[in-house]
Amino acid sequence: MMDDQTFTETTTIIEALSTLTPSQLSDLTHTVSSLFHLLNRRLYSILSVPTLFNLTLHHLQSLPLQHKSLLIARHLLSNLTILTHLIQSRRSPHSACNSLNLRDLDAVVVLLLLCEIRQIHPQVLESPPSHWRSLLLDYVSDDLLKLSGIEVSGAQVLIKYVEMVTKCRRYIIGAMASSSGKAKMEAATSVAVVVALPSVEVSSGCRVECAICKEDMREGRDVCRLPCDHLFHWMCILPWLKKKNTCPCCRYRLPTDDVFGEIERLWELLAKIGGAWLLADGN
Ligand SMILES: [Zn+2]
Ligand SMILES: [Zn+2]
Repeated sequence: MMDDQTFTETTTIIEALSTLTPSQLSDLTHTVSSLFHLLNRRLYSILSVPTLFNLTLHHLQSLPLQHKSLLIARHLLSNLTILTHLIQSRRSPHSACNSLNLRDLDAVVVLLLLCEIRQIHPQVLESPPSHWRSLLLDYVSDDLLKLSGIEVSGAQVLIKYVEMVTKCRRYIIGAMASSSGKAKMEAATSVAVVVALPSVEVSSGCRVECAICKEDMREGRDVCRLPCDHLFHWMCILPWLKKKNTCPCCRYRLPTDDVFGEIERLWELLAKIGGAWLLADGN
């Protein structure tokens, strides 16, 4: 059963997918199926080799919750990046590259499977961990065979993609809620982005006020323009961007190097793109 929140998140991704042209959709399907192929291969290796399974499980058990959510977050970010890249650049993403190394990727794959099992067959995890491997293998083998089969359709691949993204997002929201009040919604703007912001000339005729210091911009080149077109004194905006990745006037989100902040930014972007498309379609 899908709860309301999961439903909302699933809708966000599906609406964003609806904005894609048929050729973009087929690009996405292609990229995502090679990603799934990789994930399935890893999952199958881990579950069929006892030593590898024990190592991965041990690695997972040694990680604090924050570190586990960071792993899932990086996995989610690379999946959201595939979609936003495709929507924005109108080109197919280079490859199903995943920013995680093999050990972390293995940890993510097993962690997601354990979360799913906890929801669907919690009794599996009540058995001794030495039994988990064969029980998990039983549980996934049908699915693995189906996805590696030739008859798998593009639609099925996209459904799996939506499920995976939603699952990761739920995991992170859950982890953040349980680490009481530690939810970090603010992150510094990426340094590379700040360095690339343009300086603009303010002409003598127009009066523009800097929203931070409330003083008018003087003629000259000490003025910075954010992508949302709002203007600020460099001296005023720099300390702000060191702490936040939003425009002080309109809350436009700039890219950040913080994984969680970047997920929020891409998520908002996808929600906006999908929402705008729905409105346009309704006219
Ligand atoms: Zn100012
Ligand atoms: Zn703005």
